[in-house]
Amino acid sequence: MGAVIELVQGDITVLDVDVIVNAANSSLMGGGGVDGAIHRAAGPLLLEECAKIAAARPAGHACPTGEAVLTGAYKLPCKKLIHTVGPVWHGGRYGEAELLASCYRKSLLLAENNGLKTIAFPNISTGVYGYPKDKAAAIAVQTVRDVLAETPNIARVLFVCFDRENLDLYRQLLG
Ligand code: ADP
Repeated sequence: MGAVIELVQGDITVLDVDVIVNAANSSLMGGGGVDGAIHRAAGPLLLEECAKIAAARPAGHACPTGEAVLTGAYKLPCKKLIHTVGPVWHGGRYGEAELLASCYRKSLLLAENNGLKTIAFPNISTGVYGYPKDKAAAIAVQTVRDVLAETPNIARVLFVCFDRENLDLYRQLLG
């Protein structure tokens, strides 16, 4: 009775799942790429909630790299959002792999602990943050498979690929 892992191509913001994951930056104050798309679609109240979280934490470190934070989803069709901060790629010797795995692990555990059974991930760190897409995809798939053993209430995990290169990589890894 394991969770189902699915591959989806396109825009993560339209998905009607319990929770979608945002590839945020550590300020939580919005950005480009999928972060920008999520904030645009959710509306300004999302930024208000993120600003409140940020105000209660050290400046610039509202969400440290590898961590995850839960918020409302506002105008999005999903129920909740998880904001996680992927590592910037600096060549691979600065703990990038562990930090990226931590994003997937902490997001799944946060979903599990909040009763969120279906979760959609973007390809964290593979845009502006420059993580090599093949390496990032392998970590994403392996980490999700490992962590699902500890999250009995999660029923469905969607990997959402926006670009063709990621889609092809995930297709190979998921068989
Ligand atoms: P990061 O800073 O973590 O690299 P980006 O948002 O720049 O974050 O890119 C992460 C991934 O999200 C990239 O693979 C990019 O193609 C993808 N992406 C961008 N917009 C969307 C969207 N609307 N839905 C799903 N994925 C998206």
